[in-house]
Amino acid sequence: MVQKAESIWFDGKLVPWDQAQVHVLTHTLHYGCGVFEGIRAYRLTGGGSAVYRLKEHIHRHFNSAKIMEMKIPFTEAEICDAVIATLKANKLAEGYIRPLSFIGAGAMGVFPGDNPIQTIIATWPWGAYLGDEALEKGIRVKTSTFTRHHVNVMMTKAKTVGNYCNSILAKREALADGYHEALMLDTEGYVSEASGENIFIVRGGRIKTTPLTSILDGLTRNTLIALARDLGYEVIEERFTRDELYSADEAFFCGTAAEVTPIREVDRRTIGEGKAGAVAKHIQREYFKIVKGENPKYDAWLDKYDI
Ligand SMILES: *Cc1c(COP(=O)(O)O)cnc(C)c1O
Repeated sequence: MVQKAESIWFDGKLVPWDQAQVHVLTHTLHYGCGVFEGIRAYRLTGGGSAVYRLKEHIHRHFNSAKIMEMKIPFTEAEICDAVIATLKANKLAEGYIRPLSFIGAGAMGVFPGDNPIQTIIATWPWGAYLGDEALEKGIRVKTSTFTRHHVNVMMTKAKTVGNYCNSILAKREALADGYHEALMLDTEGYVSEASGENIFIVRGGRIKTTPLTSILDGLTRNTLIALARDLGYEVIEERFTRDELYSADEAFFCGTAAEVTPIREVDRRTIGEGKAGAVAKHIQREYFKIVKGENPKYDAWLDKYDI
């Protein structure tokens, strides 16, 4: 359950949580053309708080909208300011931030005409997406029977609402079969990503992640590539198959929600020693230092605020 906060930013103003409502004929509700973001704010070790890579997330949001031909009637800077205002209104020193832009009511055919493009920003307290134990011990993963979107069927670089029907199918299947998360293959059969996370593998000390072809361009993925290189690891972006994953020394998922989640098993095959690997733990530890403001080198990625 989402933990209720006080206010939600809705088309330019803060409204009480329970009054942030839409009409049932909201276009996006029927046809799934909307775009969203998932952002986190962390309490800084030295005091105060920061939204992690806020500008990049909002920039991606506007790109998602552009891809879907939705014109958001605000500037990126206005939405960034609105995120901070919403966190402050809700007195959240840390938590999850969910901007969503959607097509409002009006025309009801597939062609949305000039229905309004509406935007909300909700924030709420949220701990580890897959649980604290997942971060600590790693998770069990199942290759989904559902394939990730073909790049010419859905726009995989946009965080489009409708894309996540595919993710829901995969996630439900994985959970029903007793796993924690679904791994999805692309239309050619190569490893793509999870229902909402990108993937990395480690073999012989070398780190590999899928190229951007069919996956969402994750900001956590982007952070981890830079971070791992800084830590002295070799990182390559190259397609790999599921059997390469099966025989990897280590594997981990990453995303704003899932942060850095080690993978300990895939399709009943133990990965490495069947626990969170040393490289995964190293990167996870350093990632948490960055988001909590403990690594000055990455200070530019923190949008600081005080509640
Ligand atoms: C949001 C998302 C990710 C992770 O992106 P981040 O920017 O790291 O949060 C990865 N894959 C999919 C499909 C996503 O929706």
